[in-house]
Amino acid sequence: MNSPTHSLLALALLSKERHRKRNWAIFIGSIIPDIAIYIWAPYQKFVNGVSGADMWGKLYFEPPMQNLIAYFNSVPIYAVMAIIGYAARAKTWGKLLLMFALAALVHLATDLPVHGHDAYRHFWPLSDWRFHSPFSYYEQDLHGKWVSLLEALIAFVSIFILWKRFPKLWVKIVLSVLAFLYVAMQVVFRLAAINIAS
Ligand SMILES: [Zn+2]
Repeated sequence: MNSPTHSLLALALLSKERHRKRNWAIFIGSIIPDIAIYIWAPYQKFVNGVSGADMWGKLYFEPPMQNLIAYFNSVPIYAVMAIIGYAARAKTWGKLLLMFALAALVHLATDLPVHGHDAYRHFWPLSDWRFHSPFSYYEQDLHGKWVSLLEALIAFVSIFILWKRFPKLWVKIVLSVLAFLYVAMQVVFRLAAINIAS
């Protein structure tokens, strides 16, 4: 799914008002699986001068990038972190590690069912198996239209929960911008039938 949906869902499930550190750990955990892509893509574009078509059509599917994605999207790695965090939950770092790992696992749990042609190796290093889902959050031939509608619904429910949980103005501003973007994304997706990068 799109990165903001992962963060909204993880925060809706795990965040608490007035628990700053906990909430930041959840936010970072919710985006960490996508971080490799955010560093890799600008690097290829601005440092190596690779075109968008070459990047997403070719380089993305080659071993260096696929390996990086596997490391950052590994269920076993975050599961081990969650167990260590749980065992040390009496300490602050244990609690934060647990929240970080759980948020990352929420991310993976919502990516696994909706990555079709671009399935990840979610069980690395135990296995290189890829679950090629019959559903995709953006690919038109794999029900992308319906899945993206479901994604928007998850986002809106999460926005609603977070809106009620956090009275701070800046939170409400961020949530409003995101709500607007989800509506805009649906419009664009339906009108132009374009692919939206994760
Ligand atoms: Zn992801």
